[in-house]
Parts: sequence; C-alpha cells; structure tokens
Amino acid sequence: MNAAPDRLVTAKRSEEDAAELALRPQTLDDFIGQKQVRENLKIFIAAAKGRGEALDHVLLHGPPGLGKTTMAQIVAREMGVGFRATSGPVIQKAGDLAAQLTNLQAHDVLFIDEIHRLNPAIEEVLYPAMEDFQLDLMIGEGPAARSVRIELPPFTLVGATTRSGLMTRPLRERFGIPLRMVFYTPAELETIVQRAARVLKMSLAPDGSAEIAKRSRGTPRVANRLLRRVRDFAAVAGDAAVDARVADAALTRLEVDGRGLDAMDRRYLACIAENYGGGPVGAETLAAALAEQRDVIEDVIEPYLMQLGLLMRTPRGRLLSEGGYRHLGLAMPKGQKQQLDLLAAGDPPEDA
Ligand code: ADP
Repeated sequence: MNAAPDRLVTAKRSEEDAAELALRPQTLDDFIGQKQVRENLKIFIAAAKGRGEALDHVLLHGPPGLGKTTMAQIVAREMGVGFRATSGPVIQKAGDLAAQLTNLQAHDVLFIDEIHRLNPAIEEVLYPAMEDFQLDLMIGEGPAARSVRIELPPFTLVGATTRSGLMTRPLRERFGIPLRMVFYTPAELETIVQRAARVLKMSLAPDGSAEIAKRSRGTPRVANRLLRRVRDFAAVAGDAAVDARVADAALTRLEVDGRGLDAMDRRYLACIAENYGGGPVGAETLAAALAEQRDVIEDVIEPYLMQLGLLMRTPRGRLLSEGGYRHLGLAMPKGQKQQLDLLAAGDPPEDA
C-alpha cells in the first residue's frame, strides 16, 4: 500500500516512527484502550499457557495506527515465545513463506501484516500450515517436480488487516481468535499522549494533551506524531510548556482542525458536497476525482469520517451526512436529506 507521504495525520508508518519504538507498550496491562481485545486475549493466553499449547491463530482487524503490530508483539511477550514479522506484499513466493515458517520454534508468533494482500497461491500454502502445522511444497519443475511435506512446530499466526472484507473466506475462517481494534476515545488518547510526553521529556499541561488527543483521529500513531510536531512549534516559538493555546496554534498552523480533520479530509468532504451533490458517489470515482489511491481513501480517510458521523457508506456509494455538511459550513440541501433518510433506512452498509 502506498502511503500518502505528506499527510501529517496519516496513520501510516513513516521513518520517524522508529522513535515511537520507545513508546510502544510492552504488556497487556501497559496497553491503553482496546479493553475488549485485551480482556479476550488475556483469557485465551492464560488458557493456552495452562494447556502448554500454542495460542490459536489471531486476526487483528482495524484501521492503520491503532496498535495491531504492538498487540502482536505483546501476544508473543505474554506467551513467552519468539516473534517474527513479515507482511502480505513482501511474501512473493511460497519459498519466502516456507523460510519464515521453518525458522519458527515451537509456539512462536509469526506476524503477517496486511495479510489481505497475500498472493492467493501463497494462501494455499498457508492453509495446511495453519491447520495441521504441515507445509506442502513443490520442489523442481516439469516432470521432475515432486511434492515434499515438512512438519512444522505448532505456532501462532497473528494476522493484521485494515480490510478483513478483502480476505478470502477460507483464510479468515482459519483464525480461531478474530479481534476488532476500534478507534480510541479522547480520554485514552490523552493518557497515551501524556505517557509519550514523559518519554520525550517534554512539559505538557493537561489541557495541552486534551487538545492534541481530540485532534488525533482516534489513532495513537497520529497522536504521537502530532505531539512531536507541536513540540517543534513550541520549541521554535520559545514556549517552555505546551498547553491548549500552544497546541491549538501549532495544530491550526498544520491545518489539523478541531476534530482532527486535515486538508485532505476536508477536500474529500467538499468534493462529495460540491461535485456530486452530496452523493451517493462510488469510491473509484472519488479516488479519480481526488487523484488519491482508493486504498488510502477506504483505509485511512473514510473510517474516521464515518466514525464521526460525517459520512455514510451505502451500497450505492458514499453519502455526506448532515454533520458532514455542517463541518464544511454548508447547509444540507432538502432533497438530499430525504434521499439520505431513505437510503439509510433501507440498505445494509456496503462492507459490513
Ligand atoms: P498498526 O500495526 O495498527 O498500524 P502499531 O502497532 O504500529 O499500529 O502502532 C502505532 C504506534 O502507535 C506505535 O508505535 C505505538 O507507539 C503507538 N500505540 C499504538 N497503540 C498504543 C497504545 N494502546 N498505547 C500507547 N501507544 C500506542
């Protein structure tokens, strides 16, 4: 997936995030938010440890930057096993996957990020590995080709995906523990930002962390990034401590508005309102109109706008809600309101 490089609020990873390694929580108890995911994992980990078995395969699903990788590392640490990481697009050949799998020790965690982007031929190799801890590989080509079976140690696959809807059903069904990561509340993000400020040794007033938290798109990665940008502004302006006023001035300069939307989000909303009469409009059309990748629109931009209730996804396309119009400082056209009520009442969401 290509990142949107210049977006400050992008939830995708960047080089700078290496600095975030120090900010990663290390245990389930350290991890702020995602209460349901944590509670479930706690039980399943205790049970697997009690039986002396590998933990069942775990699928973590949710928008980028919510802590899926962090959670996968915590699972390995809590189980007391080794951790290896790769990602769907990186595994090009069956041999790449085989190399990862045969290097595992008993009960280890193999983390596959963006697992929905795994090549279908490789998925086929993964099925028996997940189910029976067996690897069936073809060696050689043509008439000399033969299949060999390799026994694997029992292991735990932790898959992460921003789009479980794009995963094939057989793959999805092989995960015994599917977990959904949700956007963080402002209160949770405040705690995360305060903790990060302590690690960065910066002075952050409570109203400063509240301001950053509420403008972080419900996403820890964004919160940490905004914190660092605010720190830069404060340093240059000669402000010793960051309070709400300093944070607001910095974030406004960065065009991150009061609800965490940036210029791209607003351009997206304005495009639907002004060019497509408020919708419905298809994702492909919007991607072309905005010269943005469809992936970025669907994985990064839309989930948060939907969470805020500014946008709705229907089978016929994207629709701006009344709140979406309000956010742009526009009134919703009357006819559009009627259409929206009808669509919202009648149709199931597009990718439930
Ligand atoms: P994902 O894999 O979902 O894209 P990551 O696990 O890479 O997300 O998390 C992104 C960053 O956000 C991490 O570097 C980590 O510092 C921070 N982070 C994520 N979840 C939390 C949390 N619950 N508490 C504190 N920091 C977090």
